[in-house]
Amino acid sequence: MEKRMQTYLTHMGSKLPDSVSRPKSLPITMSSVFDFEDVEMLDRVYAGDAPGYIYSRNGNPVHDALKEIMSQIDGGEASGVYASGMAAITLSILAHVETGDHIVAANVLYGGTYSFMKNELNRFNIDVTFVSPTIESITEAVRHNTRLLYVETISNPMMDVVDLEKMVEICKNCGIKLIVDNTFATAVICRPLNLGADVVVYSATKYICGHSDVTGGIVVTQKRAVMDKIDEIAALYGPMMSPFDAWLLVRSLRTLELRVRQHSINAMQMASYLEKHPKVEKVYYPGLAKSPTHEIGKKLFQKELFGGMLSFDLKGGETAAYQLIRDLDSIRLVPSLAGVSTTLSYPAKTSHRALDDKELKRAGISAGTLRLSSGLEDFDDIVAEFEIALNKLP
Ligand SMILES: *Cc1c(COP(=O)(O)O)cnc(C)c1O
Repeated sequence: MEKRMQTYLTHMGSKLPDSVSRPKSLPITMSSVFDFEDVEMLDRVYAGDAPGYIYSRNGNPVHDALKEIMSQIDGGEASGVYASGMAAITLSILAHVETGDHIVAANVLYGGTYSFMKNELNRFNIDVTFVSPTIESITEAVRHNTRLLYVETISNPMMDVVDLEKMVEICKNCGIKLIVDNTFATAVICRPLNLGADVVVYSATKYICGHSDVTGGIVVTQKRAVMDKIDEIAALYGPMMSPFDAWLLVRSLRTLELRVRQHSINAMQMASYLEKHPKVEKVYYPGLAKSPTHEIGKKLFQKELFGGMLSFDLKGGETAAYQLIRDLDSIRLVPSLAGVSTTLSYPAKTSHRALDDKELKRAGISAGTLRLSSGLEDFDDIVAEFEIALNKLP
């Protein structure tokens, strides 16, 4: 029967193609919802008796593809994908605590995580004690109502490696759970779940994406039941990842190992170069033999890789830092990390701008501290550019 134009506009073009060949890459299922033949089938999918999707806030085929890869590479039973690293982090924490509970966390954390713990959790009457991540200070901080220890594999911007084996040991002894933010390391370098952590969280915005074009967060859990709890809360708060972003991240993961390996090799070269430069006071990179946590990194990290992030202090302080950023040409000031190009960040005015002078000092950040995210360029070109700009400094 012939219909009117508006009806064709609303119905046509949504059938899956009739084809014996299949797309080589996973199709992007840009569908917020899925349709059913009848109520019985809808009911069976809701009950879990038939495989299927219902509504993308609760699940989408591209999410599942991303989760499948992440669970595999991180050695977990289950994964969850969300709209940002902060969503992954806050949901993972909320899934582990009730009103009146207590958390112990490392005293050097991503700014957003620190603010969430300091300013948001207290609205739920959840107390957080921030300590340096050592057995002694954690033991001292743990109370009868402590549920969680929260740490980051590599601290920002001093790039100290936290001894995750010791963190696992103390959590087991105290009967508390361990959540690790593994954003700077990725599963290529470190697998906290294999070491005994309960939950790993990522800002997928960084190395998992690697191309500075997606904001996302991922959680991988040792136990499926923990993931179910996180997802239950996630469906209520609602920070879901767009299927398109999930598709981009699947694309990105194809090259994760190659990228992280090259980022790390370039960072090691850069750290060694800067360490010898007369305008540089100090370099912070766990790959350097001098680094205070080099041995921990060697013990925990795979393939002798130490990640793509390093920091350094310029002898000329703030003036020199500002000038270097101005004089560098292809190396841009970018308040994030892990893209394909080498970038610099100025922690005192970006990631750590909420800290007062005393807190900055305690975190080891000076006015001459710069953080470098090493890219995938031919590194001779990057060193050449630095050489020109560094030698211009007074
Ligand atoms: C960027 C970052 C986050 C926050 O992730 P978003 O994707 O920006 O929400 C958390 N932890 C670390 C270590 C980060 O670098």
